[in-house]
Amino acid sequence: MKKFLALSLALTMSLSLAACGGTGGSSGSGSDTGSGSSSGSGGDSGAQTIGISMPTQSLERWNRDGSYLDQQFQSAGYETIVTYSDNDTNRQVNDIQNMIAEGVDLLVVAAIDGEALNTVMNEAGEAGIPIIAYDRLIMNDNVSYYVSFDNYTVGTLQGQYIVETLDLENAAGPFNIELTAGDPADNNAPYFFGGAMDVLQQYIDSGKLVVVSGQTEFDTVATAQWDSQTALERAQNILASYYADGTQLDAWLCSNDSTALGVTQAIQSDYAGSNSVLITGQDGDEANLRNIVDGVQSMTVYKAVANEAVVTLDLAKAILNGDTIDESLIENSAWDFDCSYDTESYSTSEGHTCPSFLLVPDVVTADNMVEKLVDTGYYTQDADGYLTAAG
Ligand code: BGC
Repeated sequence: MKKFLALSLALTMSLSLAACGGTGGSSGSGSDTGSGSSSGSGGDSGAQTIGISMPTQSLERWNRDGSYLDQQFQSAGYETIVTYSDNDTNRQVNDIQNMIAEGVDLLVVAAIDGEALNTVMNEAGEAGIPIIAYDRLIMNDNVSYYVSFDNYTVGTLQGQYIVETLDLENAAGPFNIELTAGDPADNNAPYFFGGAMDVLQQYIDSGKLVVVSGQTEFDTVATAQWDSQTALERAQNILASYYADGTQLDAWLCSNDSTALGVTQAIQSDYAGSNSVLITGQDGDEANLRNIVDGVQSMTVYKAVANEAVVTLDLAKAILNGDTIDESLIENSAWDFDCSYDTESYSTSEGHTCPSFLLVPDVVTADNMVEKLVDTGYYTQDADGYLTAAG
């Protein structure tokens, strides 16, 4: 677990939530082509340049993030440089160093490894370049602001879904469960897992939920690079070791959709039982939404990354304008989605908190998918009932 997690998790109380009317959201521009730069059309920003560093194109959401951010900044008149670093930290350092050398005016960085960007963040700091940590916090005090979703709540939503769906308050049980968390290098991963476990632990303690493999520690259930294949192989091992004798598996907590994809595949190929296993996720990746429609994944926690890009743009504008930044950004921006300003929950080093703008995640299931994702314009529904992210 990260050093500051315990402190941070305790501090979700003092958030101020503001919902404002007006316009917000945006639509993405489809797929990206990897590292490269693109130029905006100029405008009242004086064609300042924004460096946008994304972790990888191999996980679906970052393609959408990169595309939305690029589109948002360009339509506001900024020039952009967008890079994807193939989940390779050295490459991300190099990509950001190139942006600094290009003289970018502001950096938006979704870190591959929150602790491995120290040198380059210091270089950006020395060059006076403001840094927005995007979605994943970076452990460096040069980070000016953090824009993300409420990561802890993502986990609690997954945990609560399991509690409600298995009716743990009333059913006799016991129910068998396994756990899969995210990448230990990603500062978000312990928040997701911690949020879920804070809900589930009491049922594990009382024996109503049984982790048959006994694997409950974050470090044991973590998945390097959020890789589907890694999650698949661990799930296959667990199924072979603990469930091959016909032991029933009721639920598998997965911190996100890429890990859920691997676990679902393992259940389909290697699970001896015939019951459907409750599987959680996060992101609303197209393949997972398809699995939800098909009934082989139960839910996903959806995070409207289009809105995350909107917040990032408005924050960047305010930084570059030299405005005072606090919760008035939320009031003044007139977004049509909820966002809180939080100065306590996230720290880049001991005693150094990072002011954060946190959006609100939402549970998506087969029953509410059309209402939450199609009616809102984030996805379109194909004739076969499956969803495609709006391009
Ligand atoms: C993001 C998740 C995503 C995961 C893997 C996390 O930092 O917050 O939305 O599923 O990375 O890409």
